[in-house]
Amino acid sequence: MAEYTDPHGAEEMPELSDGDDDDIEEDEEQWQWMEEDSQPVTCLFCDRLLSSVPATLQHCTAEHQVNLVDVIRKHSLDDYGYIKMINFIRSRKCDASCLTGLPDASLPWESEDFLRPVLQDDPLLQTDPEELCGIGSGVSACPLSGAGSHDALLQRAQAAEERARLSEEALSRAMEDLHKLKLLAQGLVLNAETGRSGNLGTVAELREDEDEAYFSSYGHYGIHEEMLKDKVRTESYRNFMYRNPEVFRDKVVLDVGCGTGILSMFAARSGAKKVIAVDQSEIIYQAMDIVRSNQLEDKITLIKGRIEDINLPVEKVDIIISEWMGYFLLFESMLDSVLYARDLYLADGGSVYPDLCNISLAALGDTERHQDRIAFWDDVYGFNMACMKKAVLPEAMVEVVKADTLISEPAVIQTIDCNTVCLSELEFASDFCLKITSTTDCTAVVGYFDIFFDKGCSNKVTFSTGPQVTKTHWKQTVFLLEKPISVQAGEELRGKITVRKNKKDPRSLLVTFDLRDRKQTYSLQ
Ligand code: SAH
Repeated sequence: MAEYTDPHGAEEMPELSDGDDDDIEEDEEQWQWMEEDSQPVTCLFCDRLLSSVPATLQHCTAEHQVNLVDVIRKHSLDDYGYIKMINFIRSRKCDASCLTGLPDASLPWESEDFLRPVLQDDPLLQTDPEELCGIGSGVSACPLSGAGSHDALLQRAQAAEERARLSEEALSRAMEDLHKLKLLAQGLVLNAETGRSGNLGTVAELREDEDEAYFSSYGHYGIHEEMLKDKVRTESYRNFMYRNPEVFRDKVVLDVGCGTGILSMFAARSGAKKVIAVDQSEIIYQAMDIVRSNQLEDKITLIKGRIEDINLPVEKVDIIISEWMGYFLLFESMLDSVLYARDLYLADGGSVYPDLCNISLAALGDTERHQDRIAFWDDVYGFNMACMKKAVLPEAMVEVVKADTLISEPAVIQTIDCNTVCLSELEFASDFCLKITSTTDCTAVVGYFDIFFDKGCSNKVTFSTGPQVTKTHWKQTVFLLEKPISVQAGEELRGKITVRKNKKDPRSLLVTFDLRDRKQTYSLQ
């Protein structure tokens, strides 16, 4: 059969024959080659066993008055047409007459069913019809070898090339699907064995389909690129692991939300005995390749699924690492999933890293920015759109704050210890006091967080997402005041902040400020 291993073969076709001696010699060689290599062939029209394909062609012409090459030529059969014809003749046990007087428009073997071989290892099916032309009717009689057939050859080669390309694409899609199916099946089997349902909090209770948008956002590569390129973030995790190998040596580590697998690989390199990396997002398929490309597949086991839905291959782990932090620390509520994993899998004496987090606030005086966001609506191309102020105000803004617009010292409003905090403490209220450093208008409050890798570390690592230091992809979160408050240097601006989950969407937060007898609730979408 024709194999499309050389899709560019058209360029390398032998010179077309003009019937001179050299060609005859070549033909004879080809005949010999065919004879040597051949296996017995059952005739298409009777029970005779012939010694080779060429002998069969000769027999069909002599005994049954059917010249197969003529038939191929007459109906311009391509490889598939030829295969179907052979199987049609064999399956219907036609006699030679069934091949005469056939209409060109509809051949009786058009059905795809005739692609299925009737005889096992049928040598006739292993022969290219083009090759048959050369064998059976002499090169000059071959429909493909006359002068002017070069274009036809080229077209056939191009069609073959296209078919090969399509098949390759289909094959690689099928392989990919197969891989996903395998993982899915593994998940199903594991869950069927010891099914359980998370019931620790609102995010844990979310069903997979409800959370689809969240996880599909992590299926986009851009977000992972942004996180990896955030050096403050990624290098802090790396420094923590590489500079504290005693924490990781021979430990079993769980990476909750492994993404590209970067934290798992840091952990493996810093001496972990085994790393289990879990992610529900499609990015895990890349992580699988990445881990293999770095020869860490013996150390790192990747599992696709929500940490709340899967079963780990181990009962307990010594360390949980995760980069779960969202805007204003708690947006996304991924910490819920880390706490779920901690309560279920962390061995006594084990640790979650990072372990400590602070949320801080500071006062901002940025009249220009305030006007741009609020006063702007008073006159938009000559129209009053002031009603929009009430609509834009409750949306907290994620943006980089210029350090020179800070007008107070920062105040920590909450400290979270990931090894001890419980789910209910992630919703809280806190009084705060901002020590004002400039006499001006306070136009907004800025929020940000600091992260600490501390517990049991001989080399502690910390980073901040505040406005005074190198910016990160978390930027800062700005809560704009409806009306600026005039403040004096040295005074204390007191207020209260309440942070709670949005019941309608547990991954988003509602933050309320009580400041100078004014109350404003902001959402972080
Ligand atoms: N650890 C990676 C990715 C961090 S982003 C890094 O540092 O670069 C957070 C990842 O956690 C996302 O890929 C997201 O799909 C995954 N994730 C969030 N909640 C999860 C859960 N409950 N179960 C499994 N994966 C989760």
